Amino acid sequence: MNYRLPINTIKEQIEAKLQHNFGLTLENATDDQCYKAVVLVVRDLMVKGYLEFKKRAEETHTKRVYYLCMEFLMGRSLKNNLYNLGIEEDFRKALSEMGLKLDNLYEKEPDAGLGNGGLGRLAACFLDGLSTQGYPAMGYSLCYEYGIFRQKLVDGWQTELPDFWLPGGKVWLQEVPEKRVEVHFGGHIEEYWNNQYHIVNHKDYEKVMAVPYDMYVSGMDGRGINVLRIWSARGEAFDMSRFNSGDYLRAMEQNAMAEVITKVLYPEDNHLEGKSLRLSQQYFLVSATIQDIIRRHLFKYSTLDNLPDCVAIHLNDTHPVLAIPEMMRVMLDECGYTWEAAWDIVTRTTAYTNHTVMAEALECWNEELFKFRLPRIYQIVQEINRRFCESMHQRHVDGYKVGRMAPLNDGYVKMANLAVISSHSVNGVSALHSDILKETVFNDFYTEMPEKFQNVTNGIAHRRWLNQSNPELASLLTEKIGDGYIHDAAQLEKFLEFKDDASVLEQLGKIKRDNKVRLAEYIKKANNIVLDPDSIFDIQIKRMHEYKRQHLNALHILTLYQWLRDNPNADFTPHTYIFGAKAAAGYYFAKQMIRFIVNLAETINNDPRVNQKLKVVYVEDYRVTLAELLTPAADISEQISQAGTEASGTSNMKFMINGAVTLGTLDGANVEIHEAVGDDNIILFGMTTPEVSALKRSGYRPRVFYENNPIIRNAIDEMNKGFCGVSFRNITDSLLNEDPYMVLADFESYSQAQKRAEALYNDHARWNQMGLVNIAKAGRFAADRAIREYADNIWHATPVPPAPAADKTVKATVKKPIFKKMR
Ligand SMILES: *Cc1c(COP(=O)(O)O)cnc(C)c1O
Repeated sequence: MNYRLPINTIKEQIEAKLQHNFGLTLENATDDQCYKAVVLVVRDLMVKGYLEFKKRAEETHTKRVYYLCMEFLMGRSLKNNLYNLGIEEDFRKALSEMGLKLDNLYEKEPDAGLGNGGLGRLAACFLDGLSTQGYPAMGYSLCYEYGIFRQKLVDGWQTELPDFWLPGGKVWLQEVPEKRVEVHFGGHIEEYWNNQYHIVNHKDYEKVMAVPYDMYVSGMDGRGINVLRIWSARGEAFDMSRFNSGDYLRAMEQNAMAEVITKVLYPEDNHLEGKSLRLSQQYFLVSATIQDIIRRHLFKYSTLDNLPDCVAIHLNDTHPVLAIPEMMRVMLDECGYTWEAAWDIVTRTTAYTNHTVMAEALECWNEELFKFRLPRIYQIVQEINRRFCESMHQRHVDGYKVGRMAPLNDGYVKMANLAVISSHSVNGVSALHSDILKETVFNDFYTEMPEKFQNVTNGIAHRRWLNQSNPELASLLTEKIGDGYIHDAAQLEKFLEFKDDASVLEQLGKIKRDNKVRLAEYIKKANNIVLDPDSIFDIQIKRMHEYKRQHLNALHILTLYQWLRDNPNADFTPHTYIFGAKAAAGYYFAKQMIRFIVNLAETINNDPRVNQKLKVVYVEDYRVTLAELLTPAADISEQISQAGTEASGTSNMKFMINGAVTLGTLDGANVEIHEAVGDDNIILFGMTTPEVSALKRSGYRPRVFYENNPIIRNAIDEMNKGFCGVSFRNITDSLLNEDPYMVLADFESYSQAQKRAEALYNDHARWNQMGLVNIAKAGRFAADRAIREYADNIWHATPVPPAPAADKTVKATVKKPIFKKMR
């Protein structure tokens, strides 16, 4: 489909939208209203493309992919959609003829921050990969009224402000009230055993309506357009009888209680809080989603027998794992399936991705809470548990091992166990992480059912993170290697041909500098700090977390500061360290880490002895839109988690494709980045995963590093004294006594790596060449590639075949559904 419109038509349509929706003419409209009018025009185009794509998918009986995730960190959409549909320049021209600047309208769009960090951004990048390659797919999530909080730093302390994104964001959403469904909580179950497990009666439950809102997501060239369906919780339709009998407040209160379910996103990354409301959110998502999927399927086929052939349901992390017992519930209680038949269908339909090995993030729910809130789902989990344990005992599996694998154990519902048992595929998100899963957290399962385990290394939407974020680099690439890489990121490798071309290397250096200037302008405005674009821009942006070790970076900066104070005339390459990160609202230690970095920055930036050579910036409110500005401006990408803790990382990939050099540990996808670029184009340091394990086993004593290394000692002593009047003894106490992520053990190696980076940077041609190799080798980290692997190896899905040639006489003649058989 061609999405281009004549310039005059674009202008007319924008004016029509202004008139219709705001009762305004162009002269009286604000930029904000113009932004919305443009979105409405673009949305109309996407609806048309979507309907066409969906029709073609249905005619060809192409398998559908449903991607369930509690988070989709979409960021902004307008630029992305205009770019993908190939109409950005037309709109720019039309708007300019109307006296408007497209780039100003972009700034009116709030980020859709319906996620915390990497997990939610991955889901967003995957929708791009699915649409671009023409897989019919649907993302499912929640329509949080408040997304991830806005971060405000007050004297270095993080405070959280509500992110009410809907005023500017809901213009993308299409409400679909006729597809609303009911979700039931609480109540009690009456059972009629009668030798038939499925005869039950669920009574006195609390009803919450789930109303869907659809957001269209276009792929490149508009070949595929898919929908992200997000559910909003509503109270039951207004209770008129109660209202009439005078109980006005109770009638209202009931609605308010229901609506809290989608009020706010839990701001926790790699952590479980175990609160009842969070459980309600999870069940609300999966119940609405499963009912929606089953309704759609039954409407088309009148049976669920062929569900696994037509549909793949993907569970992104354990958050949506209750989709499994929910599907069982619908099939048993509403469709009359036997347990065995239902179980066979469910397990052949669902697949699960694990995103972490960190104990505090492995979800388990208090059994009593679970039973009280979801009595029928609890019963079904009990039965899954009973049958699983029985089957393991029959195979003479050791009793303790069965206990460790059981979904119900120790008074908890163990979500990861439920996920592994009930899915036909379990994957990690980088080669290293998938191996660790098999060796540690899921080892019991791996030894019993090795065939389920797979790896799919994460990927990024390279069109957003390269072409849209770094247009200068994109046009250099297109000039040198053609534009094939836009659809096929593997073609970036052609750029290697220029690795000894002095002129190309120089151009790369200039592009990087331009992007650094662009970032410096933002930081001047936002932080009132002046940066030197010729200094090394060394960036660490990601959630604030001990395992990600921003405090290792900061501790090293402190040692540099101390050294520069003592050696003011020493030869030192000017270095700018930039941080951006939100901490979970209740994660006290992470908030202390932020305050340490902010106060250290304040001290250094105001110390005239060093501040011409060393600068430290903490950017407030890190989010997707800031990532798009920061990533192209980095010389160094800090990926310094303790080996074995970061499942993959994706910011490492965004930096790589923008020509930054990774300074990192052999953790997550860094291992594969190293493999791709070779020893010479990455700066590695620190212990490997086996070395970390060995040190743990032998008894790690962090205090020894303090006692034996005067550089560490001086830094820690100064942290205890404090910065800007605040002592950071709570951080140093942790480092000296536990140091759970072995910051001190890796410090010396990190410090050496920083020195190597400085030396490499000073050989500008060599440094630009490292950047070039990183860009050229970044193709394998495209979301397109990841999606193809999921489709081929896990979902057994194919793209919608291209429509037959425009000749009307060869109408598609697919009579019988052709099901692609699994296995
Ligand atoms: C990519 C991205 C992340 C993930 O960063 P990691 O370093 O991989 O943890 C987090 N937040 C935002 C806004 C992102 O764009």
